[in-house]
Amino acid sequence: MAKNAEELILFEGRVPIYPRSVQGRFRTIKWSILLFAYSVYFILPWVRWQRESAVDQAVMFDIQDRIFYLFSVIVNPQDIFWLAAVLMIAAFLLFFVTGIAGRAFCGYFCFQTLWTDVYILVEHLVQGERPARIRLAKSAWSTEWILKKAVTHLLWLLVAFATGLTFTLYWGDAYELFGQFFSGTAPFPAYATTLFLSLSTYVMAGLAREQVCTYMCPYARFQSIMFDKDTLIVAYDEKRGEAEAGRAKLGKDLKTQDERHASNVGDCIDCGFCVQVCPTGIDIRDGLQMSCISCALCVDACDTIMDKLGWQRGLIRYASENELEGGETHLLKLKNIGYGLVLIAAIAGLVWSVATKSQLSMAVTQVRNPLYVMLSDGQLQNSYDIKLNNKSEKTVVMQMRLEGLPGAVMDMGKIKSIKIGPLSSVNVFVRVKSKPLQGKSGQIPFRFVVETDIGDETVTESKKALFTMRGDRK
Ligand code: SF4
Ligand code: SF4
Repeated sequence: MAKNAEELILFEGRVPIYPRSVQGRFRTIKWSILLFAYSVYFILPWVRWQRESAVDQAVMFDIQDRIFYLFSVIVNPQDIFWLAAVLMIAAFLLFFVTGIAGRAFCGYFCFQTLWTDVYILVEHLVQGERPARIRLAKSAWSTEWILKKAVTHLLWLLVAFATGLTFTLYWGDAYELFGQFFSGTAPFPAYATTLFLSLSTYVMAGLAREQVCTYMCPYARFQSIMFDKDTLIVAYDEKRGEAEAGRAKLGKDLKTQDERHASNVGDCIDCGFCVQVCPTGIDIRDGLQMSCISCALCVDACDTIMDKLGWQRGLIRYASENELEGGETHLLKLKNIGYGLVLIAAIAGLVWSVATKSQLSMAVTQVRNPLYVMLSDGQLQNSYDIKLNNKSEKTVVMQMRLEGLPGAVMDMGKIKSIKIGPLSSVNVFVRVKSKPLQGKSGQIPFRFVVETDIGDETVTESKKALFTMRGDRK
């Protein structure tokens, strides 16, 4: 079926956004979070932490040895379920915060927001305030145009490179890797990772910006299912702002609140400041929109205007739908309490697991081919592959014994003692011999027990295994 040209144009090009700077309490909170996040991210790889058996780096993700170092916590491959716990905590924290304060994570903590803020700051410092940036964008090529654009993009690339390189430094000895990187002797993945992270930072924070939040971020799509009428959102108080006759600029007989109220005009003076500061370019007066990242800069903007006029703040504020309709906000509700309880339980579980982590671990696999061997002296022999992990930073000598299989003996061949280096593993082949036990047949449960001294502490670990007695081949 033929369609006219107008119907066929489904694509809308990006309208560039040049946010105006604003000051206020939410902007201050955002700068503080940004400063803290950047300090942590950029400084951490350089922080030293004395270790006996690895690089003295406080935070390092050693992919080669598959060990993550987080200050005094060492994450071995066997502790991978901690990652699942961390992801679970992150998910429930997001549900909990979204249920109460809407998209607050996006506005204050998301990497995309933090890096875009810095990119906008650079643009502002080089090209000037919003009107100057719009003028420059619209102007024809000139020396000033080229110079300002070039400096902006160069600084953006510098921030992107610093971001990418810092990320890479977490995966090795930062000082050594840094030297290798600039002398051209670093491993290829270091260059590839830095290049990828630098380019993605430049594109996401410099070029795509709010489009990432609106079109790419899945959270923007499903956040609404966590919202309800009690969720605090950045909202325009339409009743106050519009009254019966709508908003109006300050003009003749509309300068004071009394004059405006007499004309049934609302408190919004239609200055547009809230729209100009918005990093996603939306007008919050049109209601809650998917593009709103809850950064509250429009709150700061409107508060600034209200302060200048001497009127009460809060025309744009954090408020629930219920509050805006004249009701009350109920944050203590079953959904939020449920999210909170699961969150507390997950955090407590993770802390407990980290605090009580054993320095040893063991995995036992019974050799099943053959399941048992009848020896010439009438004894039965079962064999086991045992993997022993030393998760400590010291070399340990382990003693192994059996429990729960009276009279059984262990044969480890030529191995007299099990010595394992720091953060290492060994595989031991063990034969267990036992006379047939009277009244016992089939699979007899018993335990392998290993014990070692680590510093002043004696650490013990045990694992259940089965001994197959004669006649049971099931
Ligand atoms: S509408 Fe307000 S809270 Fe939402 S993104 Fe824009 S400035 Fe931030
Ligand atoms: S900043 Fe406040 S007064 Fe100005 S247009 Fe926005 S809502 Fe209206």
